[in-house]
This record gives sequence, C-alpha cells and structure tokens, in this order.
Amino acid sequence: MTAAPPTARVIRYDGTRAAVRCPYCHAVHEHVIERGANQGRQHRAPGCGMFQPGAVRTTGYTFELPANRPGTTRRERGTREGDHR
Ligand SMILES: [Zn+2]
Repeated sequence: MTAAPPTARVIRYDGTRAAVRCPYCHAVHEHVIERGANQGRQHRAPGCGMFQPGAVRTTGYTFELPANRPGTTRRERGTREGDHR
C-alpha cells in the first residue's frame, strides 16, 4: 500500500538548501540538496517526521526544484567545476 506523496511548496532555494512548506505540519523544513545530480523532483521524509505517524515518515513528500534558474545556480555551477578550489 503506497500512498502518493503530497507536494511541498518550495519557499527558498539557493543551490545547496531548499526550504519547503510542509504539507503535514505546515511549518517550513530545510533540506540539503546535493549539487549536480540532484535537481528536479525531490522526495524526502518530512523534517517533522519524529512527531508524525510512521506512515507519514514513509510517504514523505516531494518538491520540485527550479532546475536552472538564472542567477540562483550560477555559484553552484562554478563550484562544481572547481573554480573556487
Ligand atoms: Zn512538517
């Protein structure tokens, strides 16, 4: 029995972290985003999982990252290519 995970709205996204509005508790949870391979649709256990029933932890939620929005991913791209190290 697998329920389709609800979609959380992305509040803020800076290339390494995304803050989303939790569809379960309606608070904002931050998730660390891996650079590069982890763009697009994300599936996470809710940040409030320890206060939720087990089914909620298993189902979690999804959110969609803005893939290549100009201005927000420039720093990420530079870092990935090793410009700063
Ligand atoms: Zn929550």
